[in-house]
Parts: sequence; structure tokens; C-alpha cells
Amino acid sequence: MLSKLSVRDLDVAGRRVFVRVDFNVPLNERQEVTDDTRIRASLDTLRLLLDRGAILILGSHLGRPDGKVAPAYSLSPAADRLAELVDVPVRFARDCVGREVQEAVAQMRNGSILMLENLRFHAGEEANSPEFAAELAALADLYVNDAFGTAHRAHASTAGMTRHFEYRAAGLLMERELSFLGQLLSAPERPACALLGGAKLGTKIPIIRNLLEHLDTLMIGGGMAFTFFKALGLGVGKSIVDPSLLEVALQTIRSAKESKREILLPVDIVVARELSDDADTQVVLPTDIPEGWMGLDIGPKTVDLYTQVIQASKSVFWNGPMGVFEVPKFSRGTLSLAKALAEATSQGAITVVGGGDSVAAITQLKLAKRFTHVSTGGGASLEFMEGRVLPGVEALTDAKEAVV
Ligand code: AMP
Repeated sequence: MLSKLSVRDLDVAGRRVFVRVDFNVPLNERQEVTDDTRIRASLDTLRLLLDRGAILILGSHLGRPDGKVAPAYSLSPAADRLAELVDVPVRFARDCVGREVQEAVAQMRNGSILMLENLRFHAGEEANSPEFAAELAALADLYVNDAFGTAHRAHASTAGMTRHFEYRAAGLLMERELSFLGQLLSAPERPACALLGGAKLGTKIPIIRNLLEHLDTLMIGGGMAFTFFKALGLGVGKSIVDPSLLEVALQTIRSAKESKREILLPVDIVVARELSDDADTQVVLPTDIPEGWMGLDIGPKTVDLYTQVIQASKSVFWNGPMGVFEVPKFSRGTLSLAKALAEATSQGAITVVGGGDSVAAITQLKLAKRFTHVSTGGGASLEFMEGRVLPGVEALTDAKEAVV
């Protein structure tokens, strides 16, 4: 399993540590942080470093200011919120590079924090400019990345600047992400299954392919199931279908058979004529979707079937809703399986959720604490599950190489 140098193994006392955090938090019109989850998620790493007497320089992006200074995307409110959460002063630098920042760093004491202004105020961040990366790197002696959510991007703060450091460690949050997601792909406790939903089959095909190599059973739900049904020759009414992927869907089913893995498709479907909370609905077999109707959720028999598979599994990965869960009438499949997963966790299964919508669904149900791991990285967790090497992870020092 992929093992990277941990922040716990760094000798940091009195040294300047650049920590790439993910403080990409939502702000309201009054520039107040409306959800500080991401700031809180970094606290374990920051406290560990502060307790050991490091000098912390924090870098993050917020939103998409596109390489220009845009006050609406300032990290100043995030720095204020951080100051309320940690018991040390947090100084805020109005830029992330340049003389003023260098002087601020020079004045810092052990166990204190300097939060840099939004890295994306400079075009060099997203362009991974070597000059910008070198300027950032010059601020510190050691590098820690705790921003798993941006690890799939090769930016100056996640990739370019790391070349300037002998030791590049994973923060505790990053370590947790790599450990849970990595274990699912390399050594899952078996039986291991995945529950995959959502609308866009195109974005999920690489994950399906990779998971078929590593897990035993794949349960498909959501809009993408209809491309499989159509590929199998069934009439799908007005359900969402990607006609360009029919052959790919068939190949996927074939290759699963060859490798003795199981792909399960819904055995019943909730259909409606329109996507509305007061639409009339019916539960039908996949072979009986009426003309002019569309499939918007999995039916109760599918919920039972998938629940049984989950109950029999020791590891489960979940990404993507089972139906249009934003509309209460079509949310039952998603919510029921979220509960089944939470229950399986209590029974000892390892349950890992990745990707925006599934995370939103369990947050809505206040179930997040009942999963083994809820990934903080939407796109990053999906790319990881596709088996891709994330640039921000690759850039970290391999644990076996490191003698710190
Ligand atoms: P994705 O970004 O591919 O994970 O898709 C997430 C979206 O899929 C959510 O907004 C759901 O509303 C949507 N979705 C799930 N099931 C269906 C369905 N049967 N028909 C249309 N959209 C769906």
C-alpha cells in the first residue's frame, strides 16, 4: 500500500513548516465563514505541529479568482475563524509571496501561525509556475500537504513547490484519506463491494473499471443504470441515457463476467412522467418502463437486495446517489442505503464515502459520524478510486525513503 512520510515523523521544533491546507470554505455576503468544517478538519495537524514548536505558514486557495486579486475571495475570514478555534495568535498576510510576507515570516516565533492570502490571487498557482513555486517554497524549511481535496491538481502549492524540499510529508487528514481509500484498492477486507450511482456514466466508467479489479461486487443505481439497461436491449422510456456509452456499458458487463466479479443492476425502479415532487409514480420492473415515463429512483426490492449485499460485506465504498435525491419523492433509495451503510458500520464493516452528492446525502441525514470514513475530496477521491496517481500525493516523500 502506498505509504507516505507522515507529519508525525518530522522534526519540526523551531522550523518553518509550510502547510497546504484546504480552507476553501463558503462565505456569505458579509464575508463570514458559513461552514467551517474544512478549517476544523485541519486542526489535528495544526495542533500537532504547534505542540511540537513549529512555525506554521498556511497556504490555501478559496474559490476561483482566476489569478487576480479579488477581495470577495480573501482568506482573511478563514484566518479569523481559525484564530477562534486554536489558542494561538493567527497573523494574516495580505499576499502569499513578496517582501511583506518574508518579513512577517522572519518575525514569527515557535508555535505561531501565519495564514497567507489566497494562493490563486496569483496566476502562477494554477499554472504551476516554477518561479511562483520557488517563491512560496523559500518561505519554509519543511512541507506538509493536508489538502487532499486539491491533490488531484498539479498546482504550485501541491506539486511545483515540493521540489524545493527534502521532506514532504502528509498531514493527518491526508494520511487518513490515503489510508482508507488506499486500503480499499490494495487490501480490502472481503467481501468488498461498491455502491455507485449518479447521472453521468461517462465520469464513472473509469472508477467502475478499476473497482472491478479490486472489489467483489458492484451495485449500480442512479441515472447511469439506464445506459446499462438500454445497452441490454430494454426500453427505458424517457430515462436519462448516454447513447455514446452503450458499447462501453456492454463491455463492462462482459469484462465483469470474465473476471468473475458481479455487477448488480436495479431489479425495480420508481418511474414518473415528470421530475416533480407531486408527480404520480409507479414501481416497475426494468423490463416494464412505460413509454413517456422516466426512472428516477431505485425501487424497494432493489433497496432490499443492495442492503443484503452491504450486510454481507466487510468493506463498502459508496459514491453517487441512487436517484434524484434532491427531490424528496425520489430520495428514498439513496436515504435507505445511506442508513443501511451506517448500520453496517455499527456491525463492524469498513464504510467509505467519496464524492460530493453522496456526502451531501449523509450530511443531510446527519449520518456522517456513523461511517468509517467520509472523504473530504470530491474530485480527488474519485480520481484516486480510478487508480490514478494524484500529483499532490506523488509529490510527497515515500515513507521508506525518509530518514528524518
Ligand atoms: P453525478 O454527478 O454523476 O454523481 O450525478 C449526481 C446527480 O445524479 C444528482 O444530482 C442526481 O439528482 C442525479 N440522478 C440520480 N439518479 C438520477 C436519475 N435516475 N435520473 C436523472 N438524474 C439522476
